[in-house]
Amino acid sequence: MVKYSRNPKLVVDLSKLRNNISRIQRMCHDKGVEVAGVIKGCTGIPECAEQFEYAGCSFIASSRLEQLEPLKAHGIQNPLMMIRIPSLTEVPDVIRITDISLNSEPEVLEALNKEAGRQDRNHKVILMADLGDLREGFWDKDEMVETALRVEYEMHNLTLAGVGTNLGCYGAIAPTPEKLQELVDIAERIESEIGRELEFISGGATSSLPRIIEDNLPPRVNMLRVGEGILLAKDLQDLWGYDMSYMHKDVFTLRAEVIEVKDKPTHPVGEIMFDAFGNKPSYEDRGIRKRALIGLGKVDYAFPEDLIPRMKGISVIGASSDHTILDVEDAECEVHVGDIIEFDLSYSTMVYVTNSNNIEKVFI
Ligand SMILES: *Cc1c(COP(=O)(O)O)cnc(C)c1O
Repeated sequence: MVKYSRNPKLVVDLSKLRNNISRIQRMCHDKGVEVAGVIKGCTGIPECAEQFEYAGCSFIASSRLEQLEPLKAHGIQNPLMMIRIPSLTEVPDVIRITDISLNSEPEVLEALNKEAGRQDRNHKVILMADLGDLREGFWDKDEMVETALRVEYEMHNLTLAGVGTNLGCYGAIAPTPEKLQELVDIAERIESEIGRELEFISGGATSSLPRIIEDNLPPRVNMLRVGEGILLAKDLQDLWGYDMSYMHKDVFTLRAEVIEVKDKPTHPVGEIMFDAFGNKPSYEDRGIRKRALIGLGKVDYAFPEDLIPRMKGISVIGASSDHTILDVEDAECEVHVGDIIEFDLSYSTMVYVTNSNNIEKVFI
């Protein structure tokens, strides 16, 4: 009996991932910067998290507790970092599961302190400064310094580990040397009040890596929290034009199976109403062309335009929940039913595909 192994699949090349982690680690270590490996982009796949541990990352980080929680059972011993500021209802699990968290609310810090006492644990906190990106963090820097002093002197189950910032997420603000110097200035204000050095000045995410590449990171910044720049390694090259040719951009390969190949018109035939998602689309008439259907859809990756076919001459022309339509008229090799079509992922499709139960994960 033939044993079929169902598609679609996500193939994860763990040695390429490990190489990417090591490259970024080395670049950062050379400038005295530790790397917290951020695994939320790949839905915290434990096999991926493991590579961050093997490569010697200081922390494994995620915005989601449900991704951090299984790591201990998976044998991962690295300190775990919660990088979304915790909600009040998450406090008991933040203390139980993680070693360090990013914070900006005095009320949450107090709850963390109480809960850490209850669980007889010490928990490290990094206070976040909002330097203009307008997502999380203290806007009022006097309030930030005041809160730091309260953590230091009144919250005995918490350790004030440092300060951090996040840029380039909501407001798309660049982590320039000047912006990061603002963070160092806040750290030094706190240090002069508490009379000791802070352990960490956490200067952002992948979007701060250009400071390492250009060697203009303010010297006291000693931690970056890096996800995309390791997992996909696309943004620094595609958006900012840095030469990242030494990074593997194919850690993840989505493999989907062709379920239909037919010559069809490019313009739908009949009266156009609404598509599967309630939109009234328009179509360009390019005559009869060869189309292939593959067996996965928007439910699996959300954004068809962000799937990148590896084979030249194939383009994604649309999708519904469970089907994706490809134009294969000009494909480099002829496409048949049962063929496997490979795709590169973007950040958005990586997030969805790694989160889809429909897509088996295979590790090589
Ligand atoms: C997502 C996130 C990161 C990592 O971002 P990348 O762009 O994937 O490097 C770092 N810090 C915080 C607070 C985040 O939310």
